[in-house]
This record gives sequence, C-alpha cells and structure tokens, in this order.
Amino acid sequence: MTKKWIYLARNAKEELTETLGHEPGLLERKVILGGKGAGLAEMTGAGLPVPPSFTITTEACVEYMHTGEFPEGLWEQTLEALQVIEKETGKKFGDPNNPLLVSVRSGARDSMPGMMDTVLNLGLTDQTRESLARLTGNEWFSYDAYRRFITMFSDIVMGYSREHFERKLQELKDKEGITSDTEVSLEGMKELVAEYKRMYKAHFGEDFPTDPYKQLDLAIKAVFDSWNGERAVAYRDFSKIPHDWGTGVNVCTMVFGNMGENSGTGVAFTRDPATGEKHLYGEYLENAQGEDVVAGLRTPMKIAQLESVMPDIYQQFSEVAQQLEAHFRDMQDLEFTVERGKLWMLQTRTGKRTAASAVKVATDMAHEGLITKEEAVMRVKPEEVDQLMHPFFDPKAKLQAEERGDLLAEGLNASPGAGTGIAAFDAARAKELAGEGKAVILVRPETSPDDVPGMLISKGVLTQHGGATSHAAVVARGNNLPCVAGCEDIRVDIERAQFTVKDTGRVVKEGDVISIDGGTGEVFWGEIHTLEVEYEKQEILVELLSWADEIRTLGVRTNADYPTDAQRAVAFGAEGIGLCRTEHMFFEEFARQQVVRMIMAETDEERQDALDKMLPVQEKDFEGIFEAMDGKPVIMRLIDPPMHEFLPNRDETFEKVVRLRCTGEDPEELARQEKILQVINSLWEVNPMMGMRGCRAGIMYKGLTEMQTRAYFQAACRCAKRGVEVMAEVMIPLVGHVNELKLEREKLEAVAKQVMEEEGIEVEHKFGTMIEVPRAALTAGEIAEYADFFSFGTNDLTQMTFGYSRDDAEGKFLLTYVDGIDTGEVDTEGNPVPFKILEVNPFQTLDEVGVGRLVELCVEEGRAANPDLEIGICGEHGGDPASVDFCHRAGLDYVSCSPFRVPVARLSAAQATLKHSK
Ligand code: PEP
Ligand code: MG
Repeated sequence: MTKKWIYLARNAKEELTETLGHEPGLLERKVILGGKGAGLAEMTGAGLPVPPSFTITTEACVEYMHTGEFPEGLWEQTLEALQVIEKETGKKFGDPNNPLLVSVRSGARDSMPGMMDTVLNLGLTDQTRESLARLTGNEWFSYDAYRRFITMFSDIVMGYSREHFERKLQELKDKEGITSDTEVSLEGMKELVAEYKRMYKAHFGEDFPTDPYKQLDLAIKAVFDSWNGERAVAYRDFSKIPHDWGTGVNVCTMVFGNMGENSGTGVAFTRDPATGEKHLYGEYLENAQGEDVVAGLRTPMKIAQLESVMPDIYQQFSEVAQQLEAHFRDMQDLEFTVERGKLWMLQTRTGKRTAASAVKVATDMAHEGLITKEEAVMRVKPEEVDQLMHPFFDPKAKLQAEERGDLLAEGLNASPGAGTGIAAFDAARAKELAGEGKAVILVRPETSPDDVPGMLISKGVLTQHGGATSHAAVVARGNNLPCVAGCEDIRVDIERAQFTVKDTGRVVKEGDVISIDGGTGEVFWGEIHTLEVEYEKQEILVELLSWADEIRTLGVRTNADYPTDAQRAVAFGAEGIGLCRTEHMFFEEFARQQVVRMIMAETDEERQDALDKMLPVQEKDFEGIFEAMDGKPVIMRLIDPPMHEFLPNRDETFEKVVRLRCTGEDPEELARQEKILQVINSLWEVNPMMGMRGCRAGIMYKGLTEMQTRAYFQAACRCAKRGVEVMAEVMIPLVGHVNELKLEREKLEAVAKQVMEEEGIEVEHKFGTMIEVPRAALTAGEIAEYADFFSFGTNDLTQMTFGYSRDDAEGKFLLTYVDGIDTGEVDTEGNPVPFKILEVNPFQTLDEVGVGRLVELCVEEGRAANPDLEIGICGEHGGDPASVDFCHRAGLDYVSCSPFRVPVARLSAAQATLKHSK
C-alpha cells in the first residue's frame, strides 16, 4: 500500500491516529501537517467556519526534495482529496459552470512568516473567469482575481518576476489618473489581463496554462521548492530551524475578500505581540485579498475599527479568537477573510512576539489560570530575558534631539527597541555596509521577504508603507529588531538612495546617521545616546523570575569585582558572589604601582612596604562588597594572573633601553629601565597561561596572599562588628596538586585565625579551590580533603582540556572549526556541506563530552571524599543556558555569572529543573 501523503482538514486527527496507531499530540500533528495544516485541521474540527481544505504532509515534501519528483501515490491522493472538497462545496475544479478555485499555501512545522510561497485563485482560466463573473455578478472582480493569479503563477511557479506585471499595473493607474488598485476601471482590468497573457506567451513561448490540473501540479511543486528558496534558507539559518523538515502544502477552497465593500481580509493577534496587552491587535483591509495586507502596499484600518464597520463580524471574530486562544492555551496569530458578509477563518498559529510580550503573555496567562506558573516559566526563552536587559535611548538625549529639531518623522511603533545606524536603502547594500562593520538602519518603501537577509543584519528597519502586521513589522518583531513601519511622513526614493521628509523637505541620504525608536515610532536625525534597561522597573519580568526562583534547585551567584557590581547583581537576583577576581582591584593607578613595587622589590622590607600599601585598597573594596552582599556568601579569589601583566610591555622597555644606550642621554633613567627590563626578562614565559599564575604566584611571592587574606578578614571582621552578616569564602586558584592547596590553605588559615583574634570576632568562613587544571579534576578525591568548596573555572579548564589557548584560538582556527571546513561534500541542491569539527564554541557553551566528563568525575569523587563539599561554576559558562542545564544535571550547587546574565541564569536554572524533573 502506498503511504498516506494527504489529510483532509475535517478528519485529519482521526486519520492521523489511524496511520500512527496512537493519537498524536499537537507537536506531532505539526511535524506531519506543518503548523498551518495542523491549525486548519484544529479549527475545522472545532466547528469553526473554515473553507474546506486538505494538507499534503511535510513527509511528501522531504521525499520530493530527495528525488525531485512527487512520491508514489501523491498525485492520485491529491485528486481524491480534491473530489471530496468538490462534493463538500458543490463546485468542480475546472468546471465552466461552477468552478472550484483553490489556494496553495506553504506551512512548515515552525512558522516562517512570508519566507515560502503561496498561490491564490488557482483554477482560474478564461472559461472559469467568465463563470466567476456570472456567479458573483461582478465582472470587475473576476478580472481582478484573474490578473492576480496570472501574476502570482508567473512569479512563484514559473519564476517570471512579478515586477514586470506590477509595472504594467502602475502604468495603467497612471494612465487612468488613479492611485488605488480598486479604482481601476473594468476596461482597464480587461486590458490588463489581455496584456498579462501576451507577456506570458512572449516570455515562455506558450500560452498561459488553461488546464487547472496542470496549474495545481506545478503550484504544489513550486511550494515544495520554496522550502529551499534563498530567503527560506537564510531565515532557517538565522532561526536555527533544521533544513530537513520540509514544508506542508495546504490546498484550500478560495474565499474572496475582494468582492466589494462587505468583503475584506484581516490579520490579528489575540494579544498585542509588541507589548503583550490583552486585546485584539491587528488590521483589516476592506475589499482586498490577504496578500494586500501582508505586502503592506495599502495601509489598512486597525482591527478595533472593524467593530463600528461590521459589528456582527467583529463580535463573531472576537469570540472565535478567544476560543482558539483558550484551545491552544497560547497567543494566536489569525488570518481571516470576510466574503460578502460571511466570516471565514484561514489560519491560526502561535503568534510571534517580542521579548516583552512573551514575558507579559506568559505571566498574564498564569494569572488567568490558563496555564500554570511552571508553564509560564517554560514559555519564555532565556534569550528573551537577555533582550530585556538591553539598552534603550537615553530620554534626555532624545529630548535634546527633539529640541534640536532632529525629530524627522513619526510612523507606527511596529517593533520596540532603539536602533542607531547609517541609512541604507536596499538589502544588498545594507549587507555590504554591515560587512564593513557599520551599524545600518534599513530604509525601504515596504519590505518583502527578499529583504529579510538585509533586515537581519541591520540595527533597525524603517518603512514608508505598511501596518503593524505588515511583513516588515512581523519579521522585525520576531527577530527583536526595532522597526518603525508605515511612516508616511517620509518619501523613500530607492533610485537616489535617499528619503525626503514630506513636511520639511529634509533629505536623508545613504550613509547619513539616523536613530529609530521602535517603541514610539519616532525617527531622528543623528545618533542618540542609549541607556541600560532598568530591570527593577520591569515588574512582570521580576515576577516571572520570582516564580523561576521558587522552582529552581540550582543557586545563582555572580562574578563581581567591585561593590557597585555586587549591588547591581543583588538587584538582578544574585544569591552570592561566586567569583571576585581580586587582581581587578589593582587596576587603579596607585594600587598598580604598589604591585609593580612588590614585584620589583629587592629586599623583604621593600616588598612588605608595597604589600602594606596594597592592603587598604583591597580592604576598602572588600568592605563595600560585604555590605552589598549582607548575609550572602562572598568568594574572594586570590590573585591569579601572571605577574608580568602588571609590568610595562617587554618590547617597549627593550626599545627604551636601546635608545638610551645609543644616545647616552639620561644615565639614571637608563639604569632604571635596565632594571625593569631585567625583572621583565626574569618573569617572561613562553606560555604565561601555564606559568606563574594562581596559587603558584601565592606560593612563590612571599607575603602576597597573606596580605590579601588579611585584608579580606579585616574587612569581614570589621563589617561583622558593624552588624553586617558575613559569609567569607577564600578561593585558591589554579591548583593542580593537592600539596599546593594544603600549603596555601594552612598558611592562610593561620592568617585568618590571627586576624579574627586581633579583631576579637569570629566570622563564618570557608577555604576552597578552583578546579581549572584537568589534574585537579582527576584527583578531586585528594583535593577535596583540603577544600570546603570547589568552583569550576571552566575558562581555564576548557583551555587546558582542549589544549586551545583561550586568548588565541577564536582568532586563529576555532571559529572555522565551528563554521565547518569545506571538504567538497555537497547536498542534493549542490550547496557545499561544510564539515563541522565542533558544533559550538566550547568557550561559550560547555563541552559536555570532554570538559563535562571531568566535571562529573570531579563532583562524584569530591563529594565522596567530602560530603559537605559546596560545588559551583564561575567560568563564563555559568550564564549560558545550555551550560546551566548541564550544571543542573551534574548536581552542582550553583552557577556564577556576570551581573547582567543573572536573570538569564535564574530562568535557565528553573527550566532545567522542570525539564529534568519528569
Ligand atoms: C576560569 O578560568 O574559568 C575563571 C573563572 O578564572 P579566570 O577567567 O579569571 O581565569
Ligand atoms: Mg581561571
């Protein structure tokens, strides 16, 4: 028996159950039918007004991609399904008396708005056009539908660009002295259709196909092919959608929104996709087909206005929208058509939304009882939280720009965010300029899917035409690009690569800097200073993250080196400091000089004097940090970098010495520089990352880590005496052998004890180590006997496990390893398939197979030796969602990351708990 390639919307669920042998969930239905197909089946099954339709499975598309031909049985099944629809509608495909017309639409598992192709009005021929005119009593409409079909078929199915047809339409409108398509005269329409057919014949050397079955066959293949179209591939690369999914093809009975005043077409979201507010959000265009709204060529009315224009339809649509949202338990993106006063639902799918909207919709739906708090936490992506932590225009700078008269124009606030860059007027040019490292704002009359690659590399998008659900708006929102659409205050001139502000005549040319505020719709001349997002004011996000905190079992700390960092991180929800890189406290000039003195010292007295001057600098910062963290643990990592980093550059010093020797100018300075060079040379290492760093420096430089420990415990004791709750943790870095830790710990514990005695107060404290050297991980059992805690320094651990220099690898070979090496292998389309040595950059996402194995072994053996061992991670991976997931699975106590990533880590940790608790 041949495979089942087609499902009718009205019984798809039952038939799928039969094919699969079990009842498929929504995801499985989407996998087979595509999102649009699954939505059509769902709506039809729920008894909503949906034109009869059937769906060709994504599996058929995958087969077709392999062979370039319809799989066996597909065409026969298509004809059978068509017959069922003919029966249901009482119409017949190609029948001159009562013709059935269909749309052929793409629909992948995950929606890829506007990235693939659709053909409308299929089945129209000279004969069926006549009967369409007769049956509707509207000859103009029949010609309009026919000219649209010829355009689409030629463009999408045959590859003869629609621009040729649009140009003829424009010429006709100019001749008739009108601006809108709907005003074209009947005679004009007739003339246009005749001209289009002539153009087709001249181009292809044969007549426009009059056999509707041939039209259908070619249209299905064209939709399959559009899966591998340039823009679809670019979109999938960007959105990380696999290339082997294929698209479903939906063949639906046509309903017409362009049958006069009481017809129209609309697109609407059940909630505001920009803000998440709970109200219908979308647009309606009278006397038009869906493509008119999406293309953004005519500016439609807001959906709310439909209430006064067609109250009954509005009411019915609102109810359907609510029903679908409740059914899918998520915000829906709906397409509908009104044909002579009757509502038809054409599509429902999960609505794309901005990060702010995602958080609000999830949180609101949990409050409404539509979903659980756990589901709300799972609904928001860590990257979306990340986006909400990003900058926006400084209101003061914006006001100043306004006062300077730099507010050029205002359009629709189509996708929030602030973007500044130079204006570019086509996608290819935008890509070129971005390639030169320039920030670009893409300015277009309206966008089409071909503009997507240019949009994705821009800092923002500005369009003259189009509404909030036009292509530009939807794509920008989905990709969190600021977008101002429908900015009719400007006139975009593509040829001259410029736009003119209508009222003032001001001209913006390619290369001029502009700023757009997608949240307000404002367009400014020049650059506007941007500001950080105020996290605390985002109450909804704060609430959602508080739910994440209730769920997660993994702690979240921060890497903070200064009191201000610590305060900020606490505001972001950090539960302690997992890493304070104390060498960063010596960046300030005075402290730095003392470090240099300490390194250069020739006697113990000189060295001690320098250390004595370093101590208060550290102590002050430690006090500030303890105060900020009041009651939360603070891990102080002892000085770590190679000592020569504090000294002047070797080559420059060498040059100075040579010059002074040659000129004999300043013997005193020469002596000084010679001494510095001597010290630099004595410290110089071929591979400093594997040299005198971390605990090795502590062991070799007398008094250095003792000074740091004294400063730390003095700060701790003095804070404790002032009533600050203190939890002090001293971390000894880069240990590779247990004896290093034993030696340092015993020495420093004595210092801590002495300080506490001197200060007359005991503070809660721990001594522990970083696990950064593979040998430390491999001997965790021994090391754990001398450690109260472990913290994985996965930056170094990755460096040393792979043998990749963390400072050099990315610039040399690592990114090529990730992008892939060209081995000559190609896919079925002939595109090169590079061989990826690494799936991801291991310095960003923890390598579970190698580094992760060391981590797991270390956790197991460390805990076996010391059951109270506290274990965390403080490498950059602590803020990466996939790595946080691993840390949860590996049983760590906490992750630690930079302050701005703390909210992301909180959400990721909660998601890991939910994912792995089943
Ligand atoms: C690490 O190596 O992961 C770490 C946190 O230490 P640093 O980056 O300071 O070497
Ligand atoms: Mg390190």
